[in-house]
Amino acid sequence: MKFIETRGNDGQRPESVTFSEAILGPMSSFGGIYSPESLPELGISFLEEHLDKDYKTLARSILKAFEIDIDDSVIDEALDLYDHFDDCSAEQCNPAPVVKVSDDLYVSELWHGPTRAFKDMALQPFGKVLSSLAQKHQQEYLIMAATSGDTGPAALDTFKNRDNVRVVCLYPDGGTSDVQRLQMVTEDADNLKVIGIHGDFDDAQSALKMLLGSEAFNARLKEKNISLSAANSVNFGRIIFQLMYHIHSYLELVRQGAISLGDKVYLDVPSGNFGNALGGYYAMKMGLPVEKIIIASNQNNVLTHLVKEGIYDISESSVIPTSSPAMDILKSSNVERILFDLFGKERTKELMLQLDEEKRYALTDSELAELQSIFSADFCTDDEGKQYIKETFEKGYLMDPHTATCFKTFDTCRDDKSLKTIVYSTAEWTKFSPTIANALTGETGQSDRDALEAIATKAGIQIPASIKDLFNKDVTQSSVIDKDDIEKEILAFLG
Ligand SMILES: *Cc1c(COP(=O)(O)O)cnc(C)c1O
Repeated sequence: MKFIETRGNDGQRPESVTFSEAILGPMSSFGGIYSPESLPELGISFLEEHLDKDYKTLARSILKAFEIDIDDSVIDEALDLYDHFDDCSAEQCNPAPVVKVSDDLYVSELWHGPTRAFKDMALQPFGKVLSSLAQKHQQEYLIMAATSGDTGPAALDTFKNRDNVRVVCLYPDGGTSDVQRLQMVTEDADNLKVIGIHGDFDDAQSALKMLLGSEAFNARLKEKNISLSAANSVNFGRIIFQLMYHIHSYLELVRQGAISLGDKVYLDVPSGNFGNALGGYYAMKMGLPVEKIIIASNQNNVLTHLVKEGIYDISESSVIPTSSPAMDILKSSNVERILFDLFGKERTKELMLQLDEEKRYALTDSELAELQSIFSADFCTDDEGKQYIKETFEKGYLMDPHTATCFKTFDTCRDDKSLKTIVYSTAEWTKFSPTIANALTGETGQSDRDALEAIATKAGIQIPASIKDLFNKDVTQSSVIDKDDIEKEILAFLG
């Protein structure tokens, strides 16, 4: 399987690259990203064959169908990391349980990994694969990430103490939840560096972009014989591990007797950078019976406008902070792969250039019709989200504010009400407890610690030990600095 560039080739780079090349150096010509040249066709017989197989076996078969250039032994070790998720045993691994919430609505819980958010689903195996490739090439890699909360902890966890990879993680001081911050600043492996920035997430992200583009910084890395790679979701190494749980969730519905093999379902996805939804799109193209993929957003609703009107417009917008911060995004990177797949590289280059220069692009009517044959979209305000959290809790299911956005779109985006819907739950309640406590009790301004206790008491459940322990761990990563000092701090860490 080869990977090609979403904005075409500039004549300087290879026309196509292998999977491992796309992972190690994910940026391509004209600022584009790598996408698969074609997708394997899986079909109903593939689904049937995997009905009585566990998650790891399914994942192995899908990776095999992609014919990627990664050794089987590495793939096995990467997938074995799912054994550390809840509810997994070596015999029967199910890292993503699917829970029935009402007759038509099933929730696929993607947060049973070590950092309690869905980033673990892809980053756990990805970390192993990337580090193995780095060792194989005898090359040191630096992974830099700017995080608003979930990617940071998941990236640190997957790379900690791995050979040939060092991670620098920038977060906005005061801009994450207490739990998310503690998950980062209590990490103490030698190959990890966590830096708080005075500023917001955009400041952290733009500081990171500046460094990545800085010739001086790149020259210093070269002197130290260190290459750069990326762990954000433009890296296809993450996306490939996100196809699987869509296929798995569908099979779970068949196993639970909710649908028959071949029946169509809706996939209802809380979306930010569009990695999760893109995984669903590829699964659909590979033959998963999907009626439509529903894109749920918060008040940062650029994707709703794109799918409803064919217009992507960020010229007048700035990011609105919401209670689902992992979706507080205006430039949704993986939409580019959809444009490429539907409309080709010339058109993608044109549209992405317009977005860079005019902060806006518009699809033609026929392009919009094509998009709407696959996707449907709406957004959920914070108040609506809290209402859904409360109502759904009263019916017996506790969910986080990101998941709640999908309950709104479940109500507004389905044309065929006879079909079942899979809602993707992307975070455990423990990661966004003040919002949830507020929805359930009306209490405002609680610390994470108090909110966790309040929810646990109200719901009659335990706070998981991994979260509770965070409050007693030593803070080992105490740097909080100005943007201007980041480069110095990183070079000092690299030694
Ligand atoms: C990252 C994240 C999302 C958004 O996922 P994308 O793949 O970027 O669309 C949604 N919810 C939570 C909790 C997340 O951490």
